[in-house]
Amino acid sequence: MGARAAAALQHGFRGQLIAPGDPEYDRARAVWNGAIDRHPALIARCSGTADVLLAVEVAREQGLPVAVRGGGHSIAGLALCEGGLVVDLSSMRDVRVDAERRIAHAQPGVTWGGLDQETQRCALATPGAPISSTGIAGFTLGGGFGWLSRAYGLACDNLLEAELVTADGRVVTASAARNPELFWGIRGGGGNFGIATSFSYRLHPVGPQVLCGMLHFAADRAPQVLRAVRGHLRGAPDGLSVTCLLGTAPADPSLPTEVHGTRVISVAMCYAGRPERGRGAMAPLRALPGVLADTVQLRPYTVWQQALDRGRGPGARNYWKAEYLATLNDTAIATLTGDFARITSPLSRIQLVFLGGAIARVGADDTAYTHRAAPYLLAVESRWHQPAEDPVHTAWTGRLWTAMRAYSSGGASVNFLGQEGPGRILEAYGPAKYRRLTALKDVYDPGNLFRVNQNIPPSS
Ligand SMILES: Cc1cc2nc3c(=O)[nH]c(=O)nc-3n(C[C@H](O)[C@H](O)[C@H](O)COP(=O)(O)OP(=O)(O)OC[C@H]3O[C@@H](n4cnc5c(N)ncnc54)[C@H](O)[C@@H]3O)c2cc1C
Repeated sequence: MGARAAAALQHGFRGQLIAPGDPEYDRARAVWNGAIDRHPALIARCSGTADVLLAVEVAREQGLPVAVRGGGHSIAGLALCEGGLVVDLSSMRDVRVDAERRIAHAQPGVTWGGLDQETQRCALATPGAPISSTGIAGFTLGGGFGWLSRAYGLACDNLLEAELVTADGRVVTASAARNPELFWGIRGGGGNFGIATSFSYRLHPVGPQVLCGMLHFAADRAPQVLRAVRGHLRGAPDGLSVTCLLGTAPADPSLPTEVHGTRVISVAMCYAGRPERGRGAMAPLRALPGVLADTVQLRPYTVWQQALDRGRGPGARNYWKAEYLATLNDTAIATLTGDFARITSPLSRIQLVFLGGAIARVGADDTAYTHRAAPYLLAVESRWHQPAEDPVHTAWTGRLWTAMRAYSSGGASVNFLGQEGPGRILEAYGPAKYRRLTALKDVYDPGNLFRVNQNIPPSS
């Protein structure tokens, strides 16, 4: 199957073709989640839009399943397919910054680390992922929230234009002015409608230094800390972003050695705006009793954007389940902290992201991205190395996630979905948006060529 596709691509394809047996094959089929082990028939590492067009044409003509690889961070491993053709965009990494118009143009293989580096040359940024190796493509197409989102919205809210290769082999532009319904759909609807070959983002003045850092507390303080953060965020300025991380303290020099290896709750914070205002916004949290370490200080934005990379690199096995929460009442906090005490791996953690701000001010129907009103996103992230331990860790994630469903806003997050089935994809959008996305799929991909994703099948 791969040999036929490779033969068809032999003429005209300028990138790299990687097939089973190639010395590069195993590296090229590795994705962030080490639990994913799929064997594509061919990996077509594209060098530009013309290569993508050719790969789509060959896949369509030969009836091959197609997976699209951006940064390879999908928890479900959707950058890969078993058999079939991987359209690998990881070599398409150009970034162009128009500082005067405050716009960045980026190719789909760019990671957030790469985009931040270029935009920060001009003290500009757009909301991106807090882990620097995340691809801009999958992240943006699924919505995408990060440290700047309460101030400036989601990545998809700052998308001005994208170029896509469609299933029938056309190159189309999606923006507010051109193909507006497609533009609506790609802002949250994932890779269902075509392969994005470029993204243009609105930029904002950020940094180059931002006030940011972590407060660490012992695990037994978790209920009080969560209640305090919940209360504080109700009246906090949009510039303040907070994520609570409940896990095991690493052997980090910023922490007292006696804390290393113990369970802690860490309050990670960043202020998008003037540092003196940030100091005021963070002060009540920094004054909480029981702080073991306070690492808040001015740092380059690019450094903060990599601060959580440690312990979240590629290769480990991961099983995550996430849910938007409508409420974080005291019973929800008790459930969360009770299951935190039973965490099964020192690499696992519970992540609680405080949303709101600019995310919630975009109209509910303006983009395919849903659940804008949800104030919290909970991610229960199991991470370990040995395959034999799979049942223990997946069970812990499943138990806590199931218990926390009682506080759900009714919603799944496209970016955090594993392979959880069509019901969960429906929950990510709700019935009305799902119908609208299906109608869009009927127009742009009626044969469901692009189905290795959080798939919205066409109606027929
Ligand atoms: C450690 C970690 C932390 C994360 N933190 C956050 C977070 O804070 N906020 C958040 O919103 N998300 C977060 N995510 C989720 C992340 O945003 C998604 O996994 C996202 O899809 C990754 O994009 P990618 O390009 O790296 O992934 P890939 O695995 O390459 O692709 C993901 C999906 O997008 C499709 N796709 C990729 N590129 C294209 C393209 N050019 N055209 C069409 N379809 C394409 C793929 O086919 C696949 O279905 C995190 C993930 C990880 C692993």
